[in-house]
Amino acid sequence: MRILVSACLLGLICRYSGDGKAFPPLAELLKRGDLHFVPVCPEQLGGLPTPRPPAERVGERVLTRDGGDVTEQYVRGAAQAEELARLMGCQCALLKARSPSCGSGVVYDGTFTGRKVPGDGVAAARLKGAGIPVFDEEHWAEFLDFIKEEG
Ligand code: SF4
Repeated sequence: MRILVSACLLGLICRYSGDGKAFPPLAELLKRGDLHFVPVCPEQLGGLPTPRPPAERVGERVLTRDGGDVTEQYVRGAAQAEELARLMGCQCALLKARSPSCGSGVVYDGTFTGRKVPGDGVAAARLKGAGIPVFDEEHWAEFLDFIKEEG
């Protein structure tokens, strides 16, 4: 099974802050020969630098804390993530929770105060729209159930 994965969850330093966010339980799965992870960072693929100003979804737009509109880069990165998933034949995606790109089901509310609202990041929404199941690291058990059933 091929699985699209947020590159920051592997510890790659692609986050806005210039660091990674390694998710330790992934390490065991990386050793399995039947699972193939395809790393992606939609924000970098959309052309944004690292580090970069933090951004949050505000309705259909994505804005930085100082009001810069980075929607175009987020949309481009989401399209590239979908294309990568298609090229590599990914059957699902494991993405970083709450990110304006990768968040699934819950994202920050656009006030940069840590408040959360229901919703998807731009890339997660695009992948779901393409019929690719999306999980995040905070729903690890559901992800494990899926790869067990589908693998
Ligand atoms: Fe991680 Fe996704 Fe943000 Fe890239 S866009 S740093 S992969 S959460």
